Amino acid sequence: MIHFLDLHKINAAYETQFQEKLKTILDKGWYILGTEVTQFEENFAQYCGTKFCIGVGNGLDALTLIFKGYIELGKLKKGDEVLVPANTYIASILAILHADLVPVLIEPDSKTFNLNTDLLHENLTLKTKAILAVHLYGQLADMEKINDFANANNLLVVEDAAQAHGALSQHSVVSNHSKFSNSDTKLPKSEPIFKAGNLGNAAGFSFYPSKNLGALGDGGAITTNDSELAKVLFSLRNYGSEVKYHNDFIGINSRLDEVQASFLNVKLPNLDRDNQRRVAIAKRYLAEIKNDKIALPFYDHSSNHVFHLFVIQTENRMDLQHYLTENGIQTQIHYPIPPHKQKALKDFNNLSFPITEKIHKEILSLPISPVLTDAEVDFVVKMMNEWTF
Ligand SMILES: *Cc1c(COP(=O)(O)O)cnc(C)c1O
Repeated sequence: MIHFLDLHKINAAYETQFQEKLKTILDKGWYILGTEVTQFEENFAQYCGTKFCIGVGNGLDALTLIFKGYIELGKLKKGDEVLVPANTYIASILAILHADLVPVLIEPDSKTFNLNTDLLHENLTLKTKAILAVHLYGQLADMEKINDFANANNLLVVEDAAQAHGALSQHSVVSNHSKFSNSDTKLPKSEPIFKAGNLGNAAGFSFYPSKNLGALGDGGAITTNDSELAKVLFSLRNYGSEVKYHNDFIGINSRLDEVQASFLNVKLPNLDRDNQRRVAIAKRYLAEIKNDKIALPFYDHSSNHVFHLFVIQTENRMDLQHYLTENGIQTQIHYPIPPHKQKALKDFNNLSFPITEKIHKEILSLPISPVLTDAEVDFVVKMMNEWTF
C-alpha cells in the first residue's frame, strides 16, 4: 500500500538523534522554555531570515497571538476586519475570530488557489486593518501584490505559513514593517532572505506532525522583524508575563514544548533537502500524469512552492478516490467542506463563494512526502493515467 504520508518512516530516520535529545533533557530535568526552545527560536529565525522567532504551542495559537499582540500594541482593535481567503483551512479564520476581529472571506484565484488579489479592493472598508495571506498547499501567495495593496491602504500583512516552511520568493518583497516597528531596528545582518515567514509583518507556522517541518506532537512558531511585537509575544504566550509572577497582559499558556523543540532542532537542517524531494516528486507528477479528466495544480517552476500537498482537480473526485483506494493508493481531501459552510461558522453559512465551493467538491490530494520512493511515484502515475470515467 502507498501511504498518503508515512510519518513513521519520516521520523524513523531520526530515532537515534531523538533518543539522544530526550536523554539530555532527562539528565538536565528542565522541561519548559529551556535551551532547546531558545536554540530552535534562533535557528528558525535564521532559517526564515527574520530577526525574531517566538515558539508557541501550535499553528492556531501562533496566528491568534499575532493578532492579539497587535491589539495590545494598539495597532488593531476589536471589530477590525481582516481579509482572508475563503478556501483556507479553518484555523486561519478561527485565529481571526479568537482575537475578536472580523474575517472577511475572499475567493481564491482559480488557477493558484491562493488569494485573488484583484478582489482585495472591492472588499476594502474603513474597518479593514489587515490581510491574512495563506500560502495554501505550500505555494506562496502573491506577496508582491498583497504588500503593495497593504502599503497603499495602511494594512498589516500576516502570513499563514503553516504549509509553506522554506518556500522562497523570487521577488524582493517590500513589506510595510518599517511603518509598524521601531525606527531603531537594525536590518538583518546579511542579504535579506525573502522566504515564507519574512514576507509580511509577522507569520504563523505550525509544526503539526504532517507539516513539511513536523514535530512528534503539537508545536508552532511566529516569525517577525518587529521588535515591539516580538516583545509582546514572548510575554503573551507565557501568561502575559516576562518576569515570573509579574503579569503585564492577559496572556495565554501556549509555549513551544522543550522536547518538541529538541526534535525540531534535529530535523530543521534537513528541511530544504526534504522540500527538494517533494518538488522533484511534484515535477514528475506534473510531467507524467496525462489524463484529460484530471487537472493538475499550477506551478511556475520556481522555488515559491514546497508542495506540502499535491492537489489535483476532477469532476469525478469520489470515483477517482475510490479507484485509487482499490488500487492501494491512499489519498486525502484538503478540505471537503469550506469554512463558510461549517456549522461552527453559522454567520457565514448563507454567503456564496462559487469558486471555493467548486474547489472543495473537486480536489483530491495525492501522496507526496520526502520518503515516497520513485517506484511508488511510478505506480501513482500509472494508475492516474489508466483511470477512466
Ligand atoms: C495546520 C494549519 C494551521 C494550524 O496549525 P495547528 O498546529 O494544527 O494549530 C493553520 N493554518 C493552516 C493553513 C494549516 O495548514
